[in-house]
Amino acid sequence: MKKLQSLKRIKRIVIKVGSSTLIRRTGKLNLSNMERIIRIISDLHNQGIEVVLVSSGAIRFGAGKMGLKEKPEKIEEKQALASIGQGLLMHMYEKLFFEYGITVGQLLLTRGDLEEKNRRDNARNTFETLFKYRAIPIVNENDTVAVEEIVYGDNDTLSAVVAILINADLLVILSDIDGLYTGDPRKNDEVRKIPVVENITEKIENIAMGAGDSFGIGGMKTKISAAKMATEHGIFVSIIEGERPEQIRDLINGKYVGTIFLPTNTRRDISGNFKSHWAKGKKSIL
Ligand code: GLU
Repeated sequence: MKKLQSLKRIKRIVIKVGSSTLIRRTGKLNLSNMERIIRIISDLHNQGIEVVLVSSGAIRFGAGKMGLKEKPEKIEEKQALASIGQGLLMHMYEKLFFEYGITVGQLLLTRGDLEEKNRRDNARNTFETLFKYRAIPIVNENDTVAVEEIVYGDNDTLSAVVAILINADLLVILSDIDGLYTGDPRKNDEVRKIPVVENITEKIENIAMGAGDSFGIGGMKTKISAAKMATEHGIFVSIIEGERPEQIRDLINGKYVGTIFLPTNTRRDISGNFKSHWAKGKKSIL
């Protein structure tokens, strides 16, 4: 309990939101989720907290716009859809944050941007300068150019890398499930939610199964590996249901919501490289 109290003093948060929270099965925006997420982010921002939003949804939104029901197989089609969808997504973010008087900045990153020291320093400087301008950075993978060799693979990983890069206090992963369960709650009613994870052991890794849908990339597996990365760098990680973004406020007030992963290390500035984290057989999202 004592540990969660320190969340009251947080200064920087990375919030990751997945495609299934933002885009409905019809391919149209889930405006109610999107508006509530933007409202809570705006409120945290007004409180003086620096927030980064890592948003998926480009490919799914692009597919919706083109009237496609399934994600296509061909890389160039997915890249083209990402290019269509990213613009649409940013247009909505601009518009909705503008209602709260908030400016946003877009960062489209590839793995290469954060593995090489100079480029990583540049990216960090851009984040810092956006914070100085009191703008909210909105991040996605640069899907239109990312190919297998330089891809993160999923935005769960990307959000952890960004959280480490900017030395965030907390990473919130908004998910379609309200936390980590002892099994898959969609398939089994007997499972229980795990409110706090002190250490991501092999057992925890084993229960995290890849429960995604036809568009989503992550599933629980990538969330747990992202949580591992971030907690090892001294960052609190929380999995909260994307339908209930208001719980971010409860969490900061020290309440146990969703699943919270406690930091396993003290914070440090990162100057090393991130390669080892996804060296093990990462698959392309595209
Ligand atoms: N970058 C992808 C998109 O915006 C999504 C990746 C993910 O869902 O993890 O469509």
